[in-house]
Amino acid sequence: MNATLLTGSAPTRARFSFEVFPARSGAAALALGNSVQHLSAAGPDFISVTYGANGSHRDASLDLLAYLRDHTDALPLAHLTTVGESREVIRETIHRILDAGIHDFLALRGDPPRGSDEASPLVAGSLSALELTELISEARAERPAFTSVGRTAVAAYPNGHPLSQGQSADIDWLLAKEAAGAQFAITQLFFRAEEYLSFADAARTAGLRMPLLPGLMPVSTSGQLRKVASLAGRPAPVLLERSLEEAGGYAPELGVEHTISLARELLAGGAPSIHLYTFNRHEQVLAVLGELDLLG
Ligand code: FAD
Repeated sequence: MNATLLTGSAPTRARFSFEVFPARSGAAALALGNSVQHLSAAGPDFISVTYGANGSHRDASLDLLAYLRDHTDALPLAHLTTVGESREVIRETIHRILDAGIHDFLALRGDPPRGSDEASPLVAGSLSALELTELISEARAERPAFTSVGRTAVAAYPNGHPLSQGQSADIDWLLAKEAAGAQFAITQLFFRAEEYLSFADAARTAGLRMPLLPGLMPVSTSGQLRKVASLAGRPAPVLLERSLEEAGGYAPELGVEHTISLARELLAGGAPSIHLYTFNRHEQVLAVLGELDLLG
């Protein structure tokens, strides 16, 4: 797998982007304001803002996007989910975001709300990410000419989504999202480069053309490592797990080290860019990028 296979053209220098989520308290908002300044100064391709994840308030996402738009140089990218919302409300939300001058989206079905799961009727009856991708394209087409220029991203799952019926069905679904208008995909978290590289290879062989950005998170705590393992659908690397435990459950430098070596393998294997889940902190992700020589 090389860069040309994933991007269509060989990049000169690897690129990067960040994910943040709305703060849950005033103090956290102050800290986040400081962190996004540092993240923006690093020159990312975009900073994405989660939507309704872990029960967070959806308007808080729009506030954070507006903050990025008004107070940083970074391009804000809006995660948007469909779960529990009607087609009409989603359409209005897309226009509200476009009206706010945010043109780029990550189109998602969304996490099941607290107390429900993937099988609950509320979740199963929600529009899929594919339908949302189509709705975003339709909304852009309704805007005055030249005023909507953004891109749509979608999610991909190197180790399979909980609803997955196997890798080839997942890849078919990703291809369908591309055909519906997605221009790039961001992956769920994973621990081993091979998981991304073999998925990217299989997707490319099946005809995927859009860039597939690997999602990486430098964990600081044993709790975060467990959460990532559950999202990744694979056990955490034993050495990382043990070293974190021996350090008393908190050792940001271990997550940074692991992410640096994972990112090196991914970029050497042809990943076009890396997308860093920041956990609303700038120190670890900037340490990763500094070590990879991607800053400045
Ligand atoms: P979809 O693409 O609609 O479907 C998910 C999976 O279901 C597919 O991969 C496939 O396995 C299966 N599937 C569905 N329909 C079909 C079909 N017709 N044929 C075959 N297979 C099908 N959640 C939030 O609530 N807020 C966020 O901000 C957020 N950000 C995220 C960012 C990233 C990068 C990722 C990877 C996930 C994020 N999530 C977020 C979680 C995401 O919403 C959940 O994983 C959700 O369960 C699936 O969303 P999706 O957009 O991948 O769904």
